[in-house]
Amino acid sequence: MRTSQRTRKRKPPPNKYVDMAARAALRCLEGGTEPPTDLFALAHMRRVKKIYLRPMVGEGATYAVNGGFEIAVRDRIRDEVIRLDLDDPRRPPLEARQRFTLAHEIAHTLYYDLNKQRPVLINDSPRGDMLEAFCNRAAGMFLLPDALLRADLAGRPVSLEALRWLSRRYRASSSAVIRRIDELGIVKPEDHAIIYTERRADEVEIVAAFVPPPLQVVLPRPKPYITKLRTWGRSFITTEFWTSQLWRREVDVYGLKLCVEKRTGEIGDAFYLEISVV
Ligand SMILES: [Zn+2]
Repeated sequence: MRTSQRTRKRKPPPNKYVDMAARAALRCLEGGTEPPTDLFALAHMRRVKKIYLRPMVGEGATYAVNGGFEIAVRDRIRDEVIRLDLDDPRRPPLEARQRFTLAHEIAHTLYYDLNKQRPVLINDSPRGDMLEAFCNRAAGMFLLPDALLRADLAGRPVSLEALRWLSRRYRASSSAVIRRIDELGIVKPEDHAIIYTERRADEVEIVAAFVPPPLQVVLPRPKPYITKLRTWGRSFITTEFWTSQLWRREVDVYGLKLCVEKRTGEIGDAFYLEISVV
């Protein structure tokens, strides 16, 4: 791997670059004014020729090939190829997780120069974990475009109900929606904090969180997102909390009265906390 420390004119910082590139890609998407985002159309526009849905080890992969790209997305059962280059009309339904993977893989193409017959990585594009983080960020923007999400959040307080509605509407996972809400930084006084957790090994970890600024005075904003819930919520989480499916308490956290409600998630061991000021 090259560590490029060359002296060249500064491009926009990598996070700005990916935001700009993702927005530009979305703008080219015709009819992109209503969710959910047509990821197959977006992939086609980014010169993706084939999408493989198949059992595989990772969640997804992108390969530069002659004339564009091929993308593989993990599927537990299906093993099929969608030929975007041949106007294949099939658009198999994807789960929210697969949609995120496909959006992430499309984001990888943003770091390639498409003017070549076989796309080549842009000089000085980020590598490793930083590249993956940027592709996750762009994937979120693809699935939940700024303008649409802003419009949907205007006048609608952040709550678990709103989150579920947005997840269905954008066909995006809870964690993707929460991260986007957090990124957009729209603040309304009635917003609730939403903490989404999953059990991983022996710990319950915060996977995504939105804590509105007024609550940040008493609730730490869990960042980066992988944080132990036990540590984060120790000021109000009791022993009973861990064994109850539904747990709702009014608690006093540093003098602020909060209503903390635990609700089970749709999948496995995931659950949400919804926290509001009483
Ligand atoms: Zn990746």
